[in-house]
Amino acid sequence: MEKSVRIDTKLIHGGIDGDSHTGAVNVPIYQTSTYKQIELGKHKGYEYSRTKNPTRDALEALIAELESARFGFAFASGMAAIDAVLRLFKTGDKLLISSNVYGGTFRILDKVFSQSGISYEIAPTQDIKAFEKSLQQGVKAILIESPANPLMGVSDIAKIAQIAKKHGVLSIVDNTFMTPYLQRPIKLGVDIVLHSGTKYLGGHSDLIAGLVVTDNEGLAERIGFLQNATGGILSPFESFLLIRGIKTLGVRMQRHCENALFIAEHLSHTEGVSEVFYPGLPQDKGYQTHRLQASGGGGMISFVLKAGYDYRKFFASVELIALAESLGGVESLLCHPASMTHASIPAQIRQNMGISDGLIRLSVGIEDKNDILADLQNAICSSREA
Ligand SMILES: *Cc1c(COP(=O)(O)O)cnc(C)c1O
Repeated sequence: MEKSVRIDTKLIHGGIDGDSHTGAVNVPIYQTSTYKQIELGKHKGYEYSRTKNPTRDALEALIAELESARFGFAFASGMAAIDAVLRLFKTGDKLLISSNVYGGTFRILDKVFSQSGISYEIAPTQDIKAFEKSLQQGVKAILIESPANPLMGVSDIAKIAQIAKKHGVLSIVDNTFMTPYLQRPIKLGVDIVLHSGTKYLGGHSDLIAGLVVTDNEGLAERIGFLQNATGGILSPFESFLLIRGIKTLGVRMQRHCENALFIAEHLSHTEGVSEVFYPGLPQDKGYQTHRLQASGGGGMISFVLKAGYDYRKFFASVELIALAESLGGVESLLCHPASMTHASIPAQIRQNMGISDGLIRLSVGIEDKNDILADLQNAICSSREA
């Protein structure tokens, strides 16, 4: 693909555009496990589908191009992608993570990789000076999310990548919330980008997928080796679905951003709401940093109900918006972080992170924004204690 082509065009024509054999405008689903070899030691580039599959190839080329990098890898889930990246480390290594990382990321570090002697520590990535001080001996990588789930905390990605590089530390960004449509961490100097393709990239709440992107050849070689060796690959059908989802990412993200800003502005003035977290709001703590590294606020909002409003009644009163885990689909979804996405984090750590019981997370869909708002305001009204 030509470098001069803009992202909205890359979403549709990037990676491998259609099928050169037949002219099909879509990459076919190569539903095959193996490939006939021409003769001993000679094949057409494909031997076995765990190692390489043309549909997955197309997706991997596409995500790499969208993130402005050379190498992409598709996994069976976001967690399988994170697992592969964490396998780059060995006993004695320490990772720093931003506070409020995805609950599953916390869990795999705390319960799985800790057993192999790989430790982690929560670093103050929203305060650059404090962050640099936290880079002690043994730290091998920094893994951040920005904005981070569920308080939408913003970290300065370029500065963190720069400091990490200076100290010989690998920088990793989970870019699930922003997608390459709004934020491209590799361009900001980051070494590895992670995605749960399940969310905005897929966009229709109908698949589970994970992606890893890097522009570093050495890292790509190791991640490619791990992908094949451990086998947590994305299937040809899911690869096709994810490519299909990505084609409409641009129009969806524009609407997610527009709707989310509208909802955040209105919730800030709604009786019964004490706090709203959305990096697209000018009064938000992370707004200034966010607008320099991302081209939109995204579709995720969190808010806190005032004392005297019962969150259980709120969740029982919404009609249009479903109570569900996950995010990033065309439909609006509500979640209660303390009992759902972040339940695997011990209560005390959760409290320290600011995840109170009254905190509500909203994935703003692409329905009519007035209908979303009306449903929320009605439920907030109904949650008022008598
Ligand atoms: C959902 C999510 C993941 C995990 O991805 P799965 O596809 O559910 O395995 C990781 N990071 C973030 C930020 C997520 O939202």
